[in-house]
Amino acid sequence: VSDTYARGKNAFGFCDVCGFRALLREMREVVVRMAPTNILACRSCWDPDHPQNMQGMVRVTDPQALRRPRPDTSLGPDGSRDIVWGWSPLLGLSADAAVGTVVVAT
Ligand SMILES: [Zn+2]
Repeated sequence: VSDTYARGKNAFGFCDVCGFRALLREMREVVVRMAPTNILACRSCWDPDHPQNMQGMVRVTDPQALRRPRPDTSLGPDGSRDIVWGWSPLLGLSADAAVGTVVVAT
């Protein structure tokens, strides 16, 4: 404990916020954005520095881009997959169809 100032065990002061008398040792300094304001407040007036006052003080990075991406290349230009569905897709699929008429004479 430094001997520059008296201890002031029973000393009182007046709150810079409300003006009421309070014990000097129970008064605390108001801090805004982590900076001291030299405002001494009594116990009922003092509020902790609100975290909302510290917006922009913490660097926050939330990148969206991926490093060396490998997107799905099987998608066609319309967004559908270019996949041959069937029994044996490795051999390829073939379909034959015909449209005609049948005449039955009795
Ligand atoms: Zn006060």
